[in-house]
Amino acid sequence: MADLRKEIEKRRTFAIISHPDAGKTTLTEKFLLYGGAINLAGSVKGKATARHAVSDWMEIEKERGISVTSSVLQFNYDGYCINILDTPGHQDFSEDTYRTLMAADSAVMVIDGSKGVEAQTRKLFKVCVMRHIPIFTFINKMDRDANDTFDLLDEIEKELGIATCPINWPIGSGKNFKGVYDRNKKEVMLYSDTQKGTKEGEEKILSIDDDSLLAEIGEENYEKLLEEIELLDGASAEFDMDLVSKGELSPVFFGSALTNFGVETFLKHFLQMTYSPLPRRSNEGEKDPFDEDFSAFVFKIQANMNKNHRDRIAFMRICSGKFTAGMEVTHVQGGNKKIKLSQPQQMMAQERKIIEEAYAGDIIGVFDPGIFSIGDTITTAAKPFEFEGIPTFAPEHFARVRQLDTMKRKQFVKGITQIAQEGAIQIFQEYGMGMEEIIVGVVGVLQFDVLKYRLENEYNVEIRLENLPHEYIRWIENKDIDIDKLTGTSDMKKIQDLKGNPLLIFVNEWSVGMTLDRNEGLELAEFGKN
Ligand code: GDP
Repeated sequence: MADLRKEIEKRRTFAIISHPDAGKTTLTEKFLLYGGAINLAGSVKGKATARHAVSDWMEIEKERGISVTSSVLQFNYDGYCINILDTPGHQDFSEDTYRTLMAADSAVMVIDGSKGVEAQTRKLFKVCVMRHIPIFTFINKMDRDANDTFDLLDEIEKELGIATCPINWPIGSGKNFKGVYDRNKKEVMLYSDTQKGTKEGEEKILSIDDDSLLAEIGEENYEKLLEEIELLDGASAEFDMDLVSKGELSPVFFGSALTNFGVETFLKHFLQMTYSPLPRRSNEGEKDPFDEDFSAFVFKIQANMNKNHRDRIAFMRICSGKFTAGMEVTHVQGGNKKIKLSQPQQMMAQERKIIEEAYAGDIIGVFDPGIFSIGDTITTAAKPFEFEGIPTFAPEHFARVRQLDTMKRKQFVKGITQIAQEGAIQIFQEYGMGMEEIIVGVVGVLQFDVLKYRLENEYNVEIRLENLPHEYIRWIENKDIDIDKLTGTSDMKKIQDLKGNPLLIFVNEWSVGMTLDRNEGLELAEFGKN
């Protein structure tokens, strides 16, 4: 199976994260341009259309101009087959980002050079650091006045707790942006803002020792560059591939996505510094991507991507072997049931298309009749196994759901259960009660709006949400515990998840401590397992 190896070795699968407006869409478009997926960046018909076509499928996204869901794109470049996983740019959807990162082998973090690490996005970036995968930083918009470069790097190190290693270094910014200095090659790539829509921007490269450099960038920039290089070589972390692989050191690049400057250099370095898919952990040990058995796990479920079809797509990351359309696989968490994955599709550039085959590293979306849950394993292996699960994030906001039209009970239960299966919300019941008392938990408050909106628009059910003051949730670990006998603080509420597991919610951390004190032997966990 030399072909299988060859195909998998050329795969690179990464997630791209940023604060809204930092330039993620623009950068992605330029990547696609190099891949020849589209000829001119301009031909994606302006950003607005392109975005709506690709990822902003929900009205709420358009209204608020935020991206709520993520999508996947694939393109070829320089012998590589690259999968980009887009992530929502809003912190309220950091859970979704985390799940997407579970499917990625590395991450690219886009930062606006004039803004630095933005408050709202801190959480997203932290989630990224938690995954311990290589993180690359692209500091964008250098054609606008940017913050001091040392300050920018400092901020990333302090805010995110990850060391940085600039691979190149900017010369000026804004109107005074002259280009970037490649620290390894000791050359300056001069900035030109002439070829916005094409990939053949004229690239002028000068060695740092070249006599004409001073004239090109001006004396002030020249002096500053020499000074900064010296400082940098003495102060910054040395490049260490091992630390990059573990996600402890982030290679940093500077550029301007809009004017297509520094994008290809970034892409080239990125491809050199990353690996093809690595083995993944499962309950049966590590699974080798080159294994002939096909295996994948579900990391995202998205409903009603196309309103006309009311479809539901389960996104899977292939972890080993080759997928061929129509193949029979075992759905491990579905009681080892044999199923055929129907309508396998992939996003190529901006289109969805049915695919015939895919390899480890690729993401496929398959039609889901309602059988999949996040974290499920699918495989052709004779001996079924499960990939390591995806942890459930602890919700930080809770609300009681009141359904306004009781005649629509069935639609309501169906809608809310399906949305919960997608992982956007978590639903609970008041302890000892049935589905008549539903409490929803979300990580970000915006998810309440999405829930309300979707129930109305997709299921035709109106609800009212009554916010609860609780912010802390704990899973009860003790197997043999009498929940009725538990005594806590007055704000403590006993709830259960849909599987009947008991949980507690609290208004503050102090109550958590008090409850632990009052109930000897009680064990509480901060994370749930899927
Ligand atoms: P996203 O929300 O992170 O996907 O950001 P977009 O790619 O949509 O970019 C947000 C805005 O910034 C758009 O108006 C872009 O044209 C603009 N933009 C993106 N990259 C650059 C850049 O390098 N320089 C400048 N000046 N503007 C940029």
